[in-house]
Amino acid sequence: SNQRRPLIAGNWKMNGLAKSAGNELLELVKLVRDHKAPNCDILICPPATLVREMAKLAEDNAVDIGGQDCHAAENGAHTGDISAEMLKDAGAGYCIVGHSERRADHGETNAAVKAKAEAALRANMIAVVCVGETLDEREADKTLDVISDQVKNSLPEGATAANTVIAYEPVWAIGTGKTPTPLDVAVVHAHIRSELGSLMNDSDQVRLLYGGSVKGSNAEELMAVENVDGALVGGASLKAADFWPIVATS
Ligand code: PEP
Repeated sequence: SNQRRPLIAGNWKMNGLAKSAGNELLELVKLVRDHKAPNCDILICPPATLVREMAKLAEDNAVDIGGQDCHAAENGAHTGDISAEMLKDAGAGYCIVGHSERRADHGETNAAVKAKAEAALRANMIAVVCVGETLDEREADKTLDVISDQVKNSLPEGATAANTVIAYEPVWAIGTGKTPTPLDVAVVHAHIRSELGSLMNDSDQVRLLYGGSVKGSNAEELMAVENVDGALVGGASLKAADFWPIVATS
């Protein structure tokens, strides 16, 4: 048996303006309160512009707030970028790093992702490190090799179960409505757990999230898979009414 407390995380991506986002967050906080303490941690990662405001609205930490990305440096001449320290200062307790949209849109390598994860740890945030294969890689039977490479080379120095979460997000399942079978997820998560065994001391306690087209109707089945300790949710995290049923599976 394990003591891994599930984490249900929402990634709002580039969506959200103050008024409507605030309403959704308050509705989520109300659902959490009305149902007493759910048996999981709940995280919302809004766009950086909303981190401070959302952190204020979730003041009692019924819901944790996180960033979606951070720069590897603490400060400096990096126009347009945001440091981990800045996100922490605004109220973020977590930071997603290495999301496939960043790896693809911004050419982030494993080394870059690792540096960002290390910045998140330095700022006393929990790093949510994303890994996942493309459809081509899966079809070429390279999934486990790709995942090994990403886990080994994106994991921050000093990673522990307390400061690092891994999210397995097959690229082809993100925003597509397609999901791997529970068996496919089980195989990859067992593989990640085993890789972590040679990289850290408390690998048994690291939370491994599944992400990619998680919604209310498939969450229960996916969350029941061995070594799945929560979800990273994109589209279905934008509305409290869609996100709550996923939270409620924990
Ligand atoms: C994501 O981007 O992390 C994600 C899993 O998106 P979606 O749930 O919309 O597939």
